[in-house]
Amino acid sequence: MKNKDALTRFVFENTPIRGTIIQLDEAWQTLLQRKDYPAIVQTQLGEFLAANTLLASTLKLNGALVMQISGDGPINFMVMECTSDKHLRGMAQYKETVEGTLLKDLFGNGQLVITVDNNKSNERYQSIVSLDGEKISHALESYLTQSEQLETRIILATNDHHACGILVQKLPGKTEGNEDDWNRISQLVATIKPEELTSLEPEEILHRLFNEDNILILGLDSYSFQCSCSRERVSNMLISLGQEEINSIIEEQGTIDIDCEFCNQHYTFDKVDAEELFATDIHHQAPKTKH
Ligand SMILES: [Zn+2]
Repeated sequence: MKNKDALTRFVFENTPIRGTIIQLDEAWQTLLQRKDYPAIVQTQLGEFLAANTLLASTLKLNGALVMQISGDGPINFMVMECTSDKHLRGMAQYKETVEGTLLKDLFGNGQLVITVDNNKSNERYQSIVSLDGEKISHALESYLTQSEQLETRIILATNDHHACGILVQKLPGKTEGNEDDWNRISQLVATIKPEELTSLEPEEILHRLFNEDNILILGLDSYSFQCSCSRERVSNMLISLGQEEINSIIEEQGTIDIDCEFCNQHYTFDKVDAEELFATDIHHQAPKTKH
């Protein structure tokens, strides 16, 4: 693939259907470097990442789209965020042994919560999606079709190097007629092979699937894995807890260990680090004047 971490938008010229192809490589590999996931968890996480980006592409996002699953299955937590700046971050938590392939086996009694945060208006929309079907793509399809009245087809494919997906959707507000086109196109999209989705250029994928249709490619967006967490942010959070609280944790546990819930970055503070936190804090509050 020529373009790294690219999202391709397209529309059908003669029927009100739009689509998106996501092909992530570097962003996906950066995410994988944070934690050594078992193969089954890695597959779910890759599909979740591609699905999150595809879903974000269908929204007028002015902030962030967060998808989160909590459950009592072997994978007990998974989170993924896509921002309107095209930054992606996410991670999964799992128990020792992860077996199975179906959503119910992997996540148990779980729910998918989809949150759209609007930075400008400070509004937040939340939808709760039941984990129906065998795969994440099925759960999202039935949510979009039933709750949002947006007929959608999503195909995902992931391996060690790529997290990819394709989405086609009937354009909102134009649901009348064109049923035959929709049936044909949604059936065609399902014929894409995983290895095609992860290796071919978007133009080739579209040509293979829809060579009878005229398709306009609307443009490319570029994504990256980026988390807004930092040691400085964590330090500020610890400072806000107060020196007494921090000292008592250090006394009890030896170190303070914090994992970012979005990117799994690990932050450790030992006794010396903790002392430094408050030393610099005092320094900030009462800067020495130069003579
Ligand atoms: Zn982070």
